[in-house]
Amino acid sequence: MHSVEEVQKLSVLAPATGEIIAEIEETPVHEVPFFYQEARKAFGAWSSLAISERTGYLRKLKQLMVDEMDEIAKIISDDTGKVLTESIVADIMPTLDAIDHIIKHAEKVLSRQKVKTPLLLIGKKSFIEYMPRGVVLVISPWNYPLQLAMVPMISALAGGNSVILKPSEVTPLVGKCIEDLFRRSGFPEGTVQVAHGGKEVGAAFTSGKPDYIFFTGSVRTGKIIQQQAAKDLIPTTLELGGKDPMIVFEDANLDRAVKAAAWGAFTNSGQVCMSAERLYVERSIYGKFLEKLKKEVNSLQQGNDINSDVGSMTFPAQKDVVREQLDEALERGAKLETGLKPSDWKEDMFLPLTVITEVEQDMKIIQEESFGPLLPVVPFDREEEAIAYANGTVYGLNASVWTQDKAKARRVASKLVSGAVVINDVLITVANHGLPFGGTKESGIGRYHSEAGLKIFCHEKAIMEDMGFMKSEIQWYPYKGKYPLFLNLFKSYFADKRDWLTFAKNYIALLKSNK
Ligand code: NAD
Repeated sequence: MHSVEEVQKLSVLAPATGEIIAEIEETPVHEVPFFYQEARKAFGAWSSLAISERTGYLRKLKQLMVDEMDEIAKIISDDTGKVLTESIVADIMPTLDAIDHIIKHAEKVLSRQKVKTPLLLIGKKSFIEYMPRGVVLVISPWNYPLQLAMVPMISALAGGNSVILKPSEVTPLVGKCIEDLFRRSGFPEGTVQVAHGGKEVGAAFTSGKPDYIFFTGSVRTGKIIQQQAAKDLIPTTLELGGKDPMIVFEDANLDRAVKAAAWGAFTNSGQVCMSAERLYVERSIYGKFLEKLKKEVNSLQQGNDINSDVGSMTFPAQKDVVREQLDEALERGAKLETGLKPSDWKEDMFLPLTVITEVEQDMKIIQEESFGPLLPVVPFDREEEAIAYANGTVYGLNASVWTQDKAKARRVASKLVSGAVVINDVLITVANHGLPFGGTKESGIGRYHSEAGLKIFCHEKAIMEDMGFMKSEIQWYPYKGKYPLFLNLFKSYFADKRDWLTFAKNYIALLKSNK
């Protein structure tokens, strides 16, 4: 986290200890045009490289990260307050896995592809080419500051784009680390640039006319960016907030579901776009489930040593969001099952892990993203009721369904308005880079990871080839006498049962009429 000083430096304060551990120079806004100039200059050479040459650079980057994994994990933990295990498991590993996936698949996904040509266009061949867009602007958040910056960056780079990253000002040390990793991996000058600073710097880059904006962050900022992008018709991907439901039916593996709820809600102190933020439990097992959940949550260790389970919050302002939601729920009669009321919280950045019951569907704690260690638990009686509860917010990023009944699990998963659904597990779709990632409703626009994650950074160019031997085409001028021939041609071609004889007769007649 940071405070902007007169000298325009970002002070890096380690949230877990409250100590200032570094200072990082902010990028002056007047330098924005220079960044774009450099990126455009670099684009020419970078986009001309073969995909295998580009992935060669990614290989070097990956090896550097493998060599320095421990150091990177410590930087992430210092900057965010998350425990080391989470830095390595949930931030570094997915980044490395994404690099691996891209190295393996980019060439096949982004190479020229042949597609079928319909019979009506006889004699031609059709292809799709993937042409890089140009300069891609990546704006990233603080909760998984490595992964959420680097995965879109490497995807855009593989496609032949140059990249400007504006990482979160809340975790500038990780931003600096990313800059350093790319520089030391030997990427050509200007291909990857990192600009440091807060929302003013982000806004300046957004209005600097990049060719694509890949944004991960809050719904509020996403809407601002989309408005700016609309002015210049810049395409975007928006990866925004979530309020993910977890639905537990009475036949679920209870012990597993309890452990998953605690981890899904409290990993990274709940600062996960796809953390379990609402827990719906079938009434017949509600009491038993709650008792087990309380026991599990009370057994978790908060701290910042190597064996801690839950680290600190990262961003002080997020504490206020959590406090406000909890206060409103308690004022309206909700009941604390674990944790403390906000007036009893300590001053530091470690928030109590809070399980809360007797909440109403219209409370902020149910409707708005908490992005903190809050878990409301609600009983339900029928499958349709659980689905309605789950779909009853403006968000739709991820969800989970818990039951031993495969048919029921799949039925419910299909009815959830959500970018992803996990059955008998939580969050884990994000760990398979072969699956698309993104939200429905206000959780975002677009998808990345998977093939989509490479293709979005390219223009899909349609190409048709004709040998160019014939003097004319049947649909070209002159039209004289052609209408009845086309009428018969199309009627015979599009009829449920094709009439090939009529089709051939009329096609030949059209060809002849061209002479
Ligand atoms: P944020 O929207 O406050 O900031 C995100 C980034 O946008 C930062 O780099 C910030 O400096 C920049 N920014 C802020 N205002 C800007 C402006 N006007 N123009 C350009 N850039 C601007 O979000 P945050 O607090 O850093 O992150 C938390 C949010 O991100 C949560 O809502 C969370 O759910 C969401 N998130 C979503 C995903 C996902 O993949 N869907 C992943 C992680 C986090």
